[in-house]
Amino acid sequence: MGYMKLFGSSGIRGIANKEITPELALNVGLVLGSRKKTAVIGRDPRVSAPMIEHALIAGMTAAGCAVTEIGLVSTPTLAYAAREYECGVMVTASHNPSEYVGIKLWNPDGMAFDSAQQEEIEKAIEDKDFSRVPWNLIGKFEEDGSAIRAHMNMIKKLVGNSSLKVVLDCGCGAGGTITPYLLQELGCEVITLNAQPDGHFPARKPEPNDENLSMLKKAVVDFGANLGIAHDGDADRMMAVDEKGNFVSGDEMLAIFGRYECSGRKGTVVVPVDTSMMVDDSLQGSEIVRTRVGDVYVAEGIKQCGAIYGGEPSGSWIFPKISYCPDGIYAAAKLVEIVKEKKLSELREELPRYATKREAFPCANEKKTEFMKKVKAKLEPLGKVLDIDGIRVEMENGWVLVRPSGTEAKVRITAEARENVDEIFEMAEKIVKEALE
Ligand code: MG
Repeated sequence: MGYMKLFGSSGIRGIANKEITPELALNVGLVLGSRKKTAVIGRDPRVSAPMIEHALIAGMTAAGCAVTEIGLVSTPTLAYAAREYECGVMVTASHNPSEYVGIKLWNPDGMAFDSAQQEEIEKAIEDKDFSRVPWNLIGKFEEDGSAIRAHMNMIKKLVGNSSLKVVLDCGCGAGGTITPYLLQELGCEVITLNAQPDGHFPARKPEPNDENLSMLKKAVVDFGANLGIAHDGDADRMMAVDEKGNFVSGDEMLAIFGRYECSGRKGTVVVPVDTSMMVDDSLQGSEIVRTRVGDVYVAEGIKQCGAIYGGEPSGSWIFPKISYCPDGIYAAAKLVEIVKEKKLSELREELPRYATKREAFPCANEKKTEFMKKVKAKLEPLGKVLDIDGIRVEMENGWVLVRPSGTEAKVRITAEARENVDEIFEMAEKIVKEALE
């Protein structure tokens, strides 16, 4: 018999008090507490986060697990704190809107629970495979206020000082608890926007994309700042704006950090299948490995290959020398250090640029498997095929990716070419339309 699927690629996530209830959190806590002796727990500023956090703590301690609560923190702060416990628990829904909440579980090395670990938890919840301990063995509960300071100190050991002027938009997320103070201590002049954590996310949507950062783009120009930095709701992600007020795309960020991490050393860099060949071409000499889309898959890829760096264009930058968890706080400090040497707009201009074209086509979820089979047969003869997540074909002049959406009844074509992207796109479009008939 199959069991209920709770975890997605980003942990357990859904609408608070409807899909993600205190009862569910209690069960996750009981199951987790039956398997781990110690845990550290934190939360982002979501309105529902304390409710879910307390249910998790009740479950874990009831099963005999000692729990340390570190309060309102960023996800990378929690993942870093997890190094001293058997596991870490973060109550967050990352970049999702206010009504969402979620539970994400971490290993001591900063790696999120992988699919096998998640399935074990799902199955144990379904089977009620947990135990309650007698009263005198109930797990100890402690609060610890030192996690943010420890995370900051780790970063300060690795990143140099800077006196740049930075506008920082925390989006009312958890980043407001750490990044403004860290950048100040590194010597920056910091102008904050939305640095007060507020689970209603009143200022902007939590996702740090071009569309949501209009306030930051304007402020960077108005204040004459050297750069702008933005986080998502739990600050594992980080995106930037150059000194001219232009949003730096995810592919550009991936390449800029990659150049810095790879300079002077040979190594592997891990990126998802939909990443621009801008990254390949600006990191010549490094081996580029592609994974499924999702920061967890990138982190797993980094661990498997022993890579020196990896990331996802949505704003997740992973530096395995500190953690397998994307760390938007460390990335912010690192970017300031990089921009100290050269303007962000100049760093962007150095990157190769190629035309891309994207489009989505409606496709019923139950037809996706059959559709992808047809598309694969047609695309396979055209070049080097990668089929870990959709079908990606690499040709002489560029590449095309046909990928079913994981959340919507759609399939997407992405094409990128050194010249004449329309040619590649139209070829793929014809194949997709035929397969949809
Ligand atoms: Mg996030």
